[in-house]
Amino acid sequence: MPNDCLFCNISKGQTPTEFLFENDTLVVFKDINPHAPVHLLIVPKKHIRGINDLTDDDHSILSEMIMVARDMAAEVGVSQSGYKLLFNVEKGGGQVIFHLHLHLIGGWKK
Ligand code: 5GP
Ligand code: ZN
Repeated sequence: MPNDCLFCNISKGQTPTEFLFENDTLVVFKDINPHAPVHLLIVPKKHIRGINDLTDDDHSILSEMIMVARDMAAEVGVSQSGYKLLFNVEKGGGQVIFHLHLHLIGGWKK
């Protein structure tokens, strides 16, 4: 687990980042540069480089990320108005931080 990984450091509580949710598997916090009124990041505590690096051991992490995203959408009030769940994959897909994370984006004005 590289200690120069920003999202490893954030998920271990080693940077001053407020968590909206935390359990043994993952943390949720606001994106520092939001692309919409609601822009959360769902980040596993395990260092996984990205979607291409998932293994069969990671089924439960991935499903938990999606279920927590659903719950967070309800909590911040965008369940009914709608939202996007997005993985950027590799540089060409817009990935900048190479530690798996799921974007939850929503809250646009009607
Ligand atoms: P990617 O492009 O890799 O899918 O998304 C990385 C996201 O992490 C970007 O939307 C960026 O704004 C966000 N980000 C980068 N550094 C930090 C940080 O230090 N704190 C928080 N909260 N978000 C960050
Ligand atoms: Zn990491």
